[in-house]
Formats: sequence, structure tokens, C-alpha cells
Amino acid sequence: MDERIRSICIVGGGTAGWMTAAALTKVLGPEYARITLVESDEIGTVGVGEATIPQIGIFNRLLGIEEDEFVRRVNGTYKLGIQFVDWGRKGHTYFHPFGPFGVDMEGVSFHAFWLRLMQGGDPRPITDFSIQSAAADAGKFMRAITSDPRSMLSKIAYAFHFDAGLYARFLRELAEARGAVRQEGRIVEVAKRGSDGFIEAVVLQDGTRIEADLFVDCSGFRGLLIDGAMGAEFEDWSHWLPCDRAVAVPCERVSETTPYTRSTAREAGWQWRIPLQHRTGNGYVFSSAHISEDEATAVLLKNLDGAPTADPRVLRFKGGVRKTSWIKNCVALGLAAGFIEPLESTSIHLVQSGIAKLLTMFPSRSFHQADIDRYNRITAQEWEQVRDFIILHYKVTERSDTPFWDHVRTMDVPEALAEKLRVFQTHGRVFRENEELFNDTSWFAVLIGQLMTPNSYDPVADVLSLEETRRRLDQIQSAIATSVDYMPKHDRFIADNCAAARV
Ligand SMILES: Cc1cc2nc3c(=O)[nH]c(=O)nc-3n(C[C@H](O)[C@H](O)[C@H](O)COP(=O)(O)OP(=O)(O)OC[C@H]3O[C@@H](n4cnc5c(N)ncnc54)[C@H](O)[C@@H]3O)c2cc1C
Repeated sequence: MDERIRSICIVGGGTAGWMTAAALTKVLGPEYARITLVESDEIGTVGVGEATIPQIGIFNRLLGIEEDEFVRRVNGTYKLGIQFVDWGRKGHTYFHPFGPFGVDMEGVSFHAFWLRLMQGGDPRPITDFSIQSAAADAGKFMRAITSDPRSMLSKIAYAFHFDAGLYARFLRELAEARGAVRQEGRIVEVAKRGSDGFIEAVVLQDGTRIEADLFVDCSGFRGLLIDGAMGAEFEDWSHWLPCDRAVAVPCERVSETTPYTRSTAREAGWQWRIPLQHRTGNGYVFSSAHISEDEATAVLLKNLDGAPTADPRVLRFKGGVRKTSWIKNCVALGLAAGFIEPLESTSIHLVQSGIAKLLTMFPSRSFHQADIDRYNRITAQEWEQVRDFIILHYKVTERSDTPFWDHVRTMDVPEALAEKLRVFQTHGRVFRENEELFNDTSWFAVLIGQLMTPNSYDPVADVLSLEETRRRLDQIQSAIATSVDYMPKHDRFIADNCAAARV
């Protein structure tokens, strides 16, 4: 019996909807299934989501996107990591780079050697041993040169900043060119089959009925299908992630574009700064229990690089996730699946990862529960791991200057995170658990950056003498400096390769 999925309806045309349409049309090809995307111009999209992590490069390559063309089309800039200002304590800054610190030696992690020297009084921060961090400081960027794997220039990892609206439009073009059909209209009804509760069709305001075998809910925070029709429970994480609002405003671009996102801790949350080619995106993510929307807006407007170019816009959300994001023939992706605040720019990645998982567990029309259960289990695990990494930034801090920081510094955290903190506390060791998204470099960067001090270093770092350790670290630092000297300024690189038409 032919059980193949013949029709797919994607509900929503934000970043999640068009990423899904672009990926499914590319991977499945035009003949496999009819793909319809329904969106409503009247409702619109969330319209933020402008910073990414390096994994997006994998998605772009899957879609066959040429990078210079992509950056040009989305007014993009490059991102080498995130600069965190005032997080560990006021006046302190650190960098969470993409790509590793130094190089592991004698089978021992670089972190261990650095920690040993640091605890012996060496004043050099760990970021002195990251090419991303050194290049970010110098405002420089280039893509990795991979011909010599020993060169520091082969280790440049990066992501992008882009205009969310332009990104969705770019993906829409790709998806439509490969056969996806866009249907404008507001969904007013979700029709379910009486026999088994599967979704049969969505019905638009004008009466148009769209039937499909598989429905992908990308309808944003409202979760029209997964919540509205299927009643998926929401797991609320706001006791760990108390920020529940953001006020966002773009401003004029005033200086050279920095090749990194900046996150500045504020009295009741944090402010993002995302440089694009034509403007700078800004937002204050805050806890409404600790500051009002008006006050947060005033703080944001006081802390811009240039004049605002639009009115500030408030977005409301709750941190958490659907307990099951795939139910029967409905899979939720993007904000419909859940939301973890944007501190480490993970939402777009979670869409990408959801699409990848859906493709590896792609259903037939029988929709076997074992496949669905596996999808839900690994999705839940991935979201929880990301959540814990975000909580880390709030929990490990010396800040006690406002009720917000007092609250997050003293809150109980999930046991998996508590264990990581205990393990780090003894010998400064970090581990990547079960292929989690953030690797040991990320954990180390943030733990050290947030000013957690291990009691001692990893004893295996004693495999090298102190003298030898220092000599090798000097060499690495000097190789990084030489490499960064060679790199062009970020703006130069963009002007030479991928400047948008108006710049
Ligand atoms: C403040 C903030 C900052 C963020 N920053 C980042 C970041 O830096 N990096 C990152 O990776 N992510 C970030 N995100 C997350 C990112 O914005 C989202 O993950 C991404 O935009 C995907 O959104 P979406 O497509 O799921 O939802 P939306 O953009 O809300 O799209 C929903 C779609 O559903 C349609 N729809 C809804 N109801 C109906 C209906 N009844 N009928 C027809 N159509 C309907 C809408 O028209 C729209 O097309 C941020 C989010 C917030 C809130």
C-alpha cells in the first residue's frame, strides 16, 4: 500500500515557516508532496531574530545558498561571538567566541593548561587564546583558510546577523522556486477527523479549505494547531528564565560594524546590539516583575548608538516549551514549539534542528507512534540543554545590585546544570553531554566569563612543566596575533565581497 505523505501544509510564514518550506522543497523535491504555506499579512510575523550561531552555515549549504549572495540579500554582517558587558559584575566584559580556545595538547584540553597558568598568576584572559575574540577586538573578519589545518586562520568559526524580514523573503523565493505554494489568508478553523483526532484541514476566513496529510505548525507564539487544536501542554520555565518581555528598536548605523553581537546586562535583564549593514538592531529583554515596559523602553532609548529609525515595539512571551511538539499529524516548529529567550541566539537554530529531526523521522501516512515519541524525546532533551546554558548566565554572577539579579543569582537551578557547576567548581572541567548544542568551549567561556573560579586546575595539566606550558601558550598567542594582523577589517571584507546594494 502506498503510504507516502502526499501533501504538507505549513501554517505560518515567519522565519520558521519559510525555513521549513525551503528545506522540505529542497530535500523532498517537487514531486514528493504538494507543499502549501498559509500565512496572513494581516497578522504579520514577530519580525525579530537577527543573530545566529554557526550551525546556520550547514542549513544554508543544504539549501545550496551561495554565501556572498545571501549576506548581500539580507543586509547581513558576520558574527564571531557575543560580547557580554556587565554580566559577571558591573564594569567587567568577556567574550563568548565561536571556535575553540587555543589547541588541546598531549590529549589534554587547552582549558586545563590555561587554568593552571592563571591560577599560578598569569594575567592573560582565556580570550587571548581565541582567534575569534582577538579578531572581534580588532574589528576584523575573514572566512577560514582551510588549506593549512595547523594555521590559526583555519579555525575561524562564524555566524551571521541579518534582517529577519529579508531573510524570510529570501527563503520564500527559494521555496517558491522549488514548488511551494503560498496561500494568503487568516485561518479561522482547524477541522479534525472524528475517528482519530488527526487534523484534516485548515479553513480560511474566505472559506478556502486546505487539506493535507501532514501539518507543520509555524504559527508563532499562538500555536494555532499544536495548542489550539491538539491541546499540547506547555511547560513553563519562567521560574528559571524570568525575562518575559522585550522592547525592540532599530537605530541608525553610526560607526564601523562590529563582527559580534553585544549583550549588556541591565538592572532587570539585558540589552542586545546587533549591527547590520544598513542599521543596528537593539532590544531590551526584561522581567516585567522587575521593571515596567515604559521604564525599559526609556532605558533602551537612552542606550542606543544612533537615532532610532522606528518606534519601539514591545513583545511579550513566556519561556518554556510544549511538552510534546509532535502530536498525531501535527509538528510544531519555531515559536509555536516554545521559546527560550534570545541571549545566545538559539531560536533559529532550534527551528533548523527541528526540521533536521523531522526529516530523519519523516512519517508515512501511518504516523507510527514510536517515531513520534523519539522525536519528542530528543527534542525535549535538546531544549532542556539549551535552557540550562542560558540559565547559567544568570545564576553565575557576582551581581547583587538589583532585586532582579538577587533573584536569579540565588534561584535553584535544574539538577543537570547544578551538577555541571559542581564539577566545574572542583577542577574547572567541562563536558559536552549527549551531543548538546553548546560544547566545552562555550561552557568554559561563559563559566569563566561569569567569574566562577574553580578550586583548582585539572591535575592532568601537570603533564607539561610550567615552563613548557607557558612557552606553548606564548606561541599560540603570537600565532593568533600574526593571523589577526593579516585579516582585513570587517567592513572591508563586506565591501569587497558582499555589500548590499545601498551601502
Ligand atoms: C525579542 C526576541 C528576539 C529574538 N532574537 C532572536 C535572535 O537573535 N536569534 C534567533 O535565532 N531567534 C531570535 N528570536 C526568535 C525568532 O524571532 C523566532 O524564532 C523566529 O522569528 C521564528 O518565528 P516564527 O516563524 O515561529 O513565528 P512568527 O514570526 O510569529 O510567524 C508566525 C506566522 O504565523 C502566521 N499566522 C499566525 N496565526 C495565523 C492565522 N490564524 N492564520 C494564518 N496565519 C497565521 C503569521 O502570519 C506568521 O506568518 C527572537 C525572538 C524574540 C521574541
